[in-house]
Amino acid sequence: MRELTYVARNTVEWREAPDPVLGSGREAIVAPVAATSCDVDSSILAGHGFLDPPFALGHECVARVVEVGDTLTTVAPGDLVVVPWSISCGTCDQCRAGLTAHCASVPYMAMYGAPIGGSWGGLFSELVRVPYADAMLVPLPSGLDPVAMASASDNWSLAWRLVAPHLKMRPGARVLVIARGSIGLYVCDIARALGAGDILYVDPDPAHRALAETYGARTAEAIEPIRHGFDLAVEATGRVDQLALAVKSLAPEGFCESAGNHFRPGELPLLDMYLTGVTLRIARDNVRAHIPDALALASSGTVDPARVVSHVLDWEDLPSALPERHLKPVFVRDLTTR
Ligand SMILES: [Zn+2]
Ligand SMILES: [Zn+2]
Repeated sequence: MRELTYVARNTVEWREAPDPVLGSGREAIVAPVAATSCDVDSSILAGHGFLDPPFALGHECVARVVEVGDTLTTVAPGDLVVVPWSISCGTCDQCRAGLTAHCASVPYMAMYGAPIGGSWGGLFSELVRVPYADAMLVPLPSGLDPVAMASASDNWSLAWRLVAPHLKMRPGARVLVIARGSIGLYVCDIARALGAGDILYVDPDPAHRALAETYGARTAEAIEPIRHGFDLAVEATGRVDQLALAVKSLAPEGFCESAGNHFRPGELPLLDMYLTGVTLRIARDNVRAHIPDALALASSGTVDPARVVSHVLDWEDLPSALPERHLKPVFVRDLTTR
């Protein structure tokens, strides 16, 4: 089979790899049918990552189940499923506590699309082995479009976690979103659907701002800190100065969620944060735990993640198109047989 391989800055190519085979009755082989790039893939392609090429890229897709081990109970060949970005067993203490990005049954940080915590391949591959298929795979609810939900593996479900639990605790909260890619736009969509009182979206990209406005957000190209302006701030830029701006704009005892990907160190205004009373969470997302909730919101019809999909492209165009398409290109194949 072929797997899309990151080989150098702004360069990906198909490389041959052995077809994956079932290693136990708990495993499944799936074929991605709608795969997209995570916001971090753009950073990797631009050469800002911390891992040396070559490696198989991709960790967001809806896939079709091709083959299942004989003890699987939740999925069958032909099913469309969301494949989480991280590998998790579902039964260790960490997984049972919902910390699925910290599974103790696999090497630390085991994931698709990056050679850390073992070698699991990428989701821009023709076939993918899923080692704990009952625990990992989430059937795509009928009625949901695989193209719109290709990002449920990571960015869509992450965006749900960044904002939904906070709005449940604080209905009508004022939300600041400082972002550069799909995560911030998904946050705007979800925040509006769940009743945020005010959403300010900050991003230098005019096309992103125009999209955010369709979700009911006010927008700005850049801002100075807005003292005590927001109950929740979401930062998804990978830039420490923007994270500092987010925490400086919080109301007393406000919460800042950072989507991370800070590849460089930096300083935060700790005294300012202390005086305001700031809770900052910067964490790899335990995505498997809340993919079902994020899909349920998508099924409710109150959100429209399809608007963030910037291009729908043929799978064969991956090597040429992926390095050039930066918001949310979705690459599709074999989607018609559902
Ligand atoms: Zn990601
Ligand atoms: Zn586990």
